[in-house]
Amino acid sequence: MSVPRVGILALQGDVEAHARALRNAGAQSFFIRCLEDLEQGADALLLPGGESTTISKGLEREGLMDPLRDLVRSGVPILGTCAGAILLSREVKNHPVPTLGLLDALAVRNAYGTQLDSFIAQVDPGAQPEFVDFRAVFIRAPQLDCLGPEVEVLAQVQGRPVLVRQGVVWAATFHPELTADLRIHETFLNKLCS
Ligand code: GLN
Repeated sequence: MSVPRVGILALQGDVEAHARALRNAGAQSFFIRCLEDLEQGADALLLPGGESTTISKGLEREGLMDPLRDLVRSGVPILGTCAGAILLSREVKNHPVPTLGLLDALAVRNAYGTQLDSFIAQVDPGAQPEFVDFRAVFIRAPQLDCLGPEVEVLAQVQGRPVLVRQGVVWAATFHPELTADLRIHETFLNKLCS
């Protein structure tokens, strides 16, 4: 694949910052706001952070839930960040919302507290040399609990998973688009090309 085209779900949230990060990481992107946009064909999908209640309602209103789920199940990779990670999860605690249910995890919304409890932390990359010294931005972030056996933990903070992968489904509980460090987007894109 030469230059991958990534469809960014653009119903609400941190859409422009992801488009910029993808561009800087060498990919093209386009916005998905309705079913017709999805028909443009994406090599990969991105679910941004924002407000998962609003995004979930938008997905249902636009009839995008099933088509997005089907695309990922057919093998199109997806990266969900923060609210996006919530929307990928099997189940949600603390104001549950309908989700895509593509990640075998329980997402606990606002698990670190309010907006005032937002923070930046260096991730523990475990066995993943790609993410050494990566500083992650957490904004009213969720935590991912009760991970299923197929979910691989790629990075942790305070002993909890913050970047996980289950096959083509990637989820970060933080905002990789808000820093100049492009390693999360790049690693996701590299796996598309390999
Ligand atoms: N707290 C938001 C939610 O539960 C997620 C916050 C974010 O994406 N930065 O939807």
